[in-house]
Amino acid sequence: MNKLGFGFLRFPMENDEVCYDILTPMVDAFFAGGGRYIDTAYPYLNGKSEEAVRKTVVERYPRDSYILANKVPGYQVKEREDLYRMFETSLRRCGVDHFDVYMLHWLNEKHYAMAEQFDEFAFLRELKASGKAKKIGFSFHDTAALLDKILTAHPEVDVVLLQINYLDWESEGIQSRKCYETALRHGKEIVVMEPVKGGTLAKVPEAAAKILKKIDPERSPAFHALRFVQSLPHVDVVLSGMGSLEQMQENLLPVEPMTDEELVLLHRAAMAIDKATAIGCTGCGYCLSKCPQKIFISRYFRLYNEGQQKPSQAWKLKPAYVEASKDRGKASDCIGCGVCERSCPQMLPIREYLVKVKEVLE
Ligand code: SF4
Ligand code: SF4
Repeated sequence: MNKLGFGFLRFPMENDEVCYDILTPMVDAFFAGGGRYIDTAYPYLNGKSEEAVRKTVVERYPRDSYILANKVPGYQVKEREDLYRMFETSLRRCGVDHFDVYMLHWLNEKHYAMAEQFDEFAFLRELKASGKAKKIGFSFHDTAALLDKILTAHPEVDVVLLQINYLDWESEGIQSRKCYETALRHGKEIVVMEPVKGGTLAKVPEAAAKILKKIDPERSPAFHALRFVQSLPHVDVVLSGMGSLEQMQENLLPVEPMTDEELVLLHRAAMAIDKATAIGCTGCGYCLSKCPQKIFISRYFRLYNEGQQKPSQAWKLKPAYVEASKDRGKASDCIGCGVCERSCPQMLPIREYLVKVKEVLE
């Protein structure tokens, strides 16, 4: 069994350009290993993600050999016409005439209200009726109660894209388990994003790494994270952003569902990670472009976490902080406007955490 999908968001980049010499062999390995599902979105990497799909997949493989999923940021819409404009741009950048799955990107309470205001589900239905989208759906970052409300209002939805990983499985913020069960109750196809929580479950604290080694000493922490999600019987596809060919090859290995004993070990590893991870930032960067003070939020949180996990190395962090904040706002420059928190899929109290960063790193 392997349900791996290739997420075209976190992949090899250098100086803001796609590293095709690394990405192209990764795509070939993905297809050779039985992968089919490719995921991108209109806003990813300012269009470079969709262009990379065209260059590495669409121009090199027959259209019926892969499933291409794309997403429209309905929350950027000023007038309904924008939806059609973004859809046409996505078709052109990807070099295709239809998408196999087309979704509203990132529904939460605020974005769902906008989706209703601009009648965005009717737009999806229209695409499906015309054959330009084979299946329709949305990606979701909010509570299971809101997911239930949307799926009740819109039974036409075929697919939901949910954040599921073993660290967030029982979390009250992300509600992975509750969202999974809600989608299941509504009979939807489930695609999973963030199975490795933006890399948090790939580089785990030492205490957690020791526990994971008991499951399989040969495999990486990221592999265990992917295996957990693949073990969920009603998950159809597990998206992973990958940075190297080696990572791709490991992720394509056949996986067996986890046993009860392994799940107990994974739960212990989650507790060890929770204990050692002060700030659960995934580094997605969605907050960065919104901050009027240009505060390098994700980087500061990473430095702060490193200091908490390895106190003996903490002396290195202040110089790293000075370097990172050279051309950007410091944590103490935060004016408390709260714009960043409204764009954080992890729903982090960013302002509160920046106070801690300031106390420790300035
Ligand atoms: S609350 Fe602070 S960090 Fe967040 S957007 Fe405003 S100034 Fe930036
Ligand atoms: S603070 Fe939130 S939005 Fe910003 S990088 Fe971290 S997880 Fe992403």
